[in-house]
Amino acid sequence: MSFLQLKRVEKHFGNTRAIKGVDLSIEKGEFIVFVGPSGCGKSTLLRLIAGLETIDGGSLSLDGRDITHLPSSKRDLAMVFQSYALYPHMSVADNMSFALRLANVDKAVIREKVQRAAEILNLVPYLARTPRELSGGQRQRVAIGRAIVRAPKVFLFDEPLSNLDAALRGQTRVEIARLHRDLGATTIYVTHDQVEAMTLADRVVVLRDGAIEQVGTPLELYDKPANRFVAQFIGTPQMNIVEASAVPQLESVLGLKVPAGGFVGMRPESVSLTPRGSGQVGGHVDLVESLGAETLIHVSTDQGAQFISRQSTRSALSAGDSVGLAFDPGSAHIFDANGRVTH
Ligand code: ATP
Repeated sequence: MSFLQLKRVEKHFGNTRAIKGVDLSIEKGEFIVFVGPSGCGKSTLLRLIAGLETIDGGSLSLDGRDITHLPSSKRDLAMVFQSYALYPHMSVADNMSFALRLANVDKAVIREKVQRAAEILNLVPYLARTPRELSGGQRQRVAIGRAIVRAPKVFLFDEPLSNLDAALRGQTRVEIARLHRDLGATTIYVTHDQVEAMTLADRVVVLRDGAIEQVGTPLELYDKPANRFVAQFIGTPQMNIVEASAVPQLESVLGLKVPAGGFVGMRPESVSLTPRGSGQVGGHVDLVESLGAETLIHVSTDQGAQFISRQSTRSALSAGDSVGLAFDPGSAHIFDANGRVTH
């Protein structure tokens, strides 16, 4: 049996079926990321695990114990919120030790645990300050510290970085990854940012409309998406996906058969541009994005299908140039009319 097990978990809000029979097994020490578009049910699923929402069907077990109807405070989980949820009038040290003081833990033990968490999180110089005297990133570290001192069975993070600016978000993401490497604690992390999901997760759970679309390691999702939704959700820029009938030469160029009404998907790095030749898919450059380390070249085929080609070199091409498109057949993804992968 897995460390944390969700079986046919259901949640309704009035007529909205927010979570639709979700099955998921999480192993001890795993870093799991729930990702998906707004409203797909990520936070609700996390809150069900936390015990902050009541469950309408199915069951939850943690470390061999049924926790389906256990109050949140008895589940031995710690949640870190986007809003930090710190006590404004308390010092950093008191914020971090709050749960331990409530549980009447010995004062010397508390002091030692707070000190250790503060060292891990680089918060030692700030222990006497109040949250108001800290930056957003420091506040978020205090919120994480408060979870660490409790040494819970599972850490739950709900979009913890979304209030931070881009630079701090990147930095704090690295800190969370390092923390997981050092503590090895089982972690479930909610984000709508697929880059966060890809860089932090051992396994990513892609949710859509209250159900799981796919579970896999970041590279499994990137290389072998189960369907068109996952293919387009994971990866920036998005996978190029065109209806096969929109580019008549495509099937013969790739040497692949596409079902009627089906689609071909190619990652931008699997599309290269050549001088225009016969028998090729031809087009013209719409836009060149020079990003420094890479160049994104947007191309329209003669039939009007759109592709992005990603190159790790600088490009001499400019808008309006006529080009041929070359595809790596080994990296083509074929989807049927319903978006399921067939190849
Ligand atoms: P976001 O990324 O925008 O935070 P999410 O994936 O976390 O979205 P949830 O907040 O879990 O999505 O919401 C899932 C669905 O349940 C949505 O349709 C939402 O409107 C609905 N929902 C969530 N909480 C409630 C509530 N307390 N009452 C009614 N409907 C709710």
